[in-house]
This record gives sequence, C-alpha cells and structure tokens, in this order.
Amino acid sequence: MHQPSIAHLASADPEIARLVEGEARRQYEKIRLIASENYVSTAVLEACGTVLTNKYSEGYPGRRYYEGQQFIDPLETLAVNRAKELFGVEHANVQPYSGSPANLAVYLAFLEPGDTVMGMSLPMGGHLTHGWSVSATGRWFRAVRYGVRRDTGRVDMDEVRELARAERPKVIFCGGTAIPRTIDFAAFAEIAQEVGAILVADIAHIAGLIAGGAHPSPVGHAPVISTTTHKTLRGPRGAMIMSDAAHAAAIDKAVFPGLQGGPHNHTTAAIAVALREAATQGFRDYAHAVVTNAAALAEALAERGFDLVSGGTDNHLILIDLTSKGIGGKPAAQALDRAGIELNYNTVPFDQRKPFDPSGLRLGTAAVTTRGMGAAEMRQIASWIDQAVKAAGDGDEAVLAQIASEVRELTAAFPMPGWA
Ligand SMILES: *Cc1c(COP(=O)(O)O)cnc(C)c1O
Repeated sequence: MHQPSIAHLASADPEIARLVEGEARRQYEKIRLIASENYVSTAVLEACGTVLTNKYSEGYPGRRYYEGQQFIDPLETLAVNRAKELFGVEHANVQPYSGSPANLAVYLAFLEPGDTVMGMSLPMGGHLTHGWSVSATGRWFRAVRYGVRRDTGRVDMDEVRELARAERPKVIFCGGTAIPRTIDFAAFAEIAQEVGAILVADIAHIAGLIAGGAHPSPVGHAPVISTTTHKTLRGPRGAMIMSDAAHAAAIDKAVFPGLQGGPHNHTTAAIAVALREAATQGFRDYAHAVVTNAAALAEALAERGFDLVSGGTDNHLILIDLTSKGIGGKPAAQALDRAGIELNYNTVPFDQRKPFDPSGLRLGTAAVTTRGMGAAEMRQIASWIDQAVKAAGDGDEAVLAQIASEVRELTAAFPMPGWA
C-alpha cells in the first residue's frame, strides 16, 4: 500500500487512487534502473502532500507580493541555507519548477536571443536545454556543440577548447544526461576563462554524488551551477540554481519575475527536507554505494560481453552499446520492462541507428541503491539483463516472464520508502 495513506483520495476519486496504487506497486516490484530516477523518503513525500500547495508567494523571502508569508519565508530561507551549506555555495535559488526551466532561467540571466552558447550535443550525452535544435534553447540561441572522442568515449577537451576559441560562446554548459565519466570541471573552467565565457555546470544527474562526496564538486570552478533535485539528490521533482555572489542577482531576477510566477512551496519544503537528509552520514554512504554498485554492475555486464561506452563508469550511470548483441535499444528496453527491469533506450555516441530506435541502453544505480541493494544484487541484475536481451532476440516471452517473477521475489526483500 502507498505510504503515506491515500485513504481520502481513494474515497473521493477511486479512479485516480487506483492508478496511484498501481504505480506504487509497480515501483515496488520492479528493478528500477532509469538513471534519472530514485525513491524519495516518506518524509519528502509527506512534505509534497501538504497545504503549502495552497499558498502563493511570488518574490523572495522578505520581498513578497502577497501577504501571509509568516511560515513560507522561513521555510524557503531554510531550503536556501541548506543548499548553500551542503554544496558550499554563496547563493542558491530553490524556486525553479524543474531542471529545464532552471536552465532557461540561466539563458535569460546571461544571454540575449541569438547569442552563442556551447553545450554537449544531445546524442553524445548532453541535454536538450544545452542548445539542442528542437529545444527553445537551440531555436532562440546560436548553439555550438561538442562531443566525445570516438576512441575513448570521453568528452573531447581538445575539441571543447578549439570550439570555444573559434566560436567565443558567452556561456558554456558542462554536464549532461548520459555521461558515465567524471566531469573535469577544472578543465572546463580554464577554457571558459580563456574565452571569457560563463561556465555553467549542470549537475542534474550527479548532484547527489557531489553532495555525498562521491564526485568532485564544480564549486570554485563553475560560477553558476544548475541542478534538478529529484535524480541522485533524492528530493522531490524540482530544481535549484546555485552561484557565486557575483551572479546571484541576475539569476534571481531571471527566475522571478523573468520566467516564473509563484514558487511551488510544497516542493520547496520537500527540497529542504531532502537537503537535510543529504547532509547526513547515511546519505554519504548511499552516494558512495551508488558508485560502487554502478562499478559492480558495469563489471558484471562487461564480463557478459556487453560493450560499455567509455569502457565503464565513474559515477551512477552506465551506457551500453548493443550493436555487438545484434538488437536495438528499443526492443531490448521493452523486453527488459516485461522482465521487471526498467531502464531506457538511448543513443550512443556516433550511433548508426535513428534516435527513436537507437543502439544503446542507459542504466543508473541510484534507485536500487536507495532500496539497499549491493554487489550481489548487481551481479544478479547483470545476469538477468543478459538473459532478457538474449530472450528478446529469440522472442522468448516465457523467459521474460520467468525473470519478472524472480525479480518480484528479489525486490520483496528490499523495502521501498513510500510503500508499506
Ligand atoms: C534531467 C536533466 C535536466 C532537466 O530536468 P527536468 O526536470 O526533466 O526538466 C536538465 N539537465 C540535465 C543534465 C538533466 O539530466
């Protein structure tokens, strides 16, 4: 059953309640390997479901446009201070509705339409909002894109430097959605400094690892840092923009009134709760275990003949290139879902197939680590992935169903916050 209880919802709107219960059970019974997902704590869930959703608070603590902020002001201030302390930054804005609006606020703060921005190409592992063509950021700004080296699968810092020197971007984004390796913030900072660009570290995926000391921090290298709060950081869906003091005013003005109206106070509360959790030893242990688990899973997959982009992982994320297995990413991901293992198909660098039917699978270990799984489970998961990918190739549904029942048995041994 969903926890906290949704008894009132069940009597008021059984149709929606059934779907919520169904989703809760699905999350409980599956091995969730989507690299951007996690399980938030019951405390975070409770904060999300509070009367704070009733309140409008346009502006910032002490400078609001509506009355009645006696409890919201200290609450947002707590969230801001916790973010500043946890990441060691001079400024934090906790109001962006999600990662994409947070990045759009960064553009609004530091660029004019048509200005040049540099980011990692989407099919190489970047994010839509780093100037990809279909995104507003690619349509309204002049985007130039770097990638990874063909031989190493790692960001090509020589290309980044050459491109930056030639194109003189005003803003350089580092970070992305499918980067299995440590981001060299210092190297990016040196290049940004040389060309007079503002370096923005988008740590959406790795914020929890950074907070937990399991990935180097961009602080001191990137004056502006954007992040979601719901990936490895294990908070509610939301985002933050952190910065040094010099860039603070422009960011605040861009978020409100530049881009957004009232902040989602229930989300702000849940972010504050997650940030407090992230400052604990337990969270540090989790962050390191996420990385250890990813390494164990990568090793077990490589032993079974899976090609991993860049040869492995330094963080929570693994990118498999299925080309040598003779199956596309999409049919493999769909078969794995039927086998109780949830992940997403993904392009791999230099993909020969189309974006809707690419060659790769992307996996992450944050959610399974939150459930308490360790090295033994990672080996078991690799074995199931291997069997399921073979079964997908053979069209053997019975094997997939068998794995799904074994998966349910395993997950039943690992408690899920949000389920009782
Ligand atoms: C997830 C992600 C975002 C966008 O976050 P949303 O909350 O989905 O809008 C931005 N940048 C990076 C690098 C991401 O991984």
